[in-house]
Amino acid sequence: MQWIPSHIGVTGNERADTLANEGSKQDQKEVQITFKAAKACIKKTMEDQWERRFKAKGGFYLDIKKSEEEKYMTRRDRTTLAQLRTGHSNLAKAYRFRIGLADDGNCNLCKIEETVDHIIKICPKYTSARLHAFGTANFTPGEVDGRSLINFIGRAGLVAQ
Ligand SMILES: [Zn+2]
Repeated sequence: MQWIPSHIGVTGNERADTLANEGSKQDQKEVQITFKAAKACIKKTMEDQWERRFKAKGGFYLDIKKSEEEKYMTRRDRTTLAQLRTGHSNLAKAYRFRIGLADDGNCNLCKIEETVDHIIKICPKYTSARLHAFGTANFTPGEVDGRSLINFIGRAGLVAQ
């Protein structure tokens, strides 16, 4: 369990609070809505915007198919998938560099930024693991499922640090 001091410091919550506050000062229509409902609506809108921006930037991993099976995976595997979906995975050197855990963020082989995308779709280091785990080396967003991805991570010898 993690203690979070109110909403302070949680960027999404602060923004939702600000927007809800600003909205409450504007002319209101006749329809009654609770503060809680307005806040939930704004939060949902912001999450949708974030997801659109993420996808527009070439984000792909939110499209890892969710399945019932994931409920029965180990906590470690579920955490790995959540991190891959957001691109915040320390499997990727670019992320480790960003948080100060690596001297640079480039793939040792390709000499370009080693992102989650690079590891899963592009880097030739993992072609064999990709073919074994996914049965293909060419991806279409939404065709990758969690179980195959965990299989790929294992075959590629990638271990979260
Ligand atoms: Zn590479």
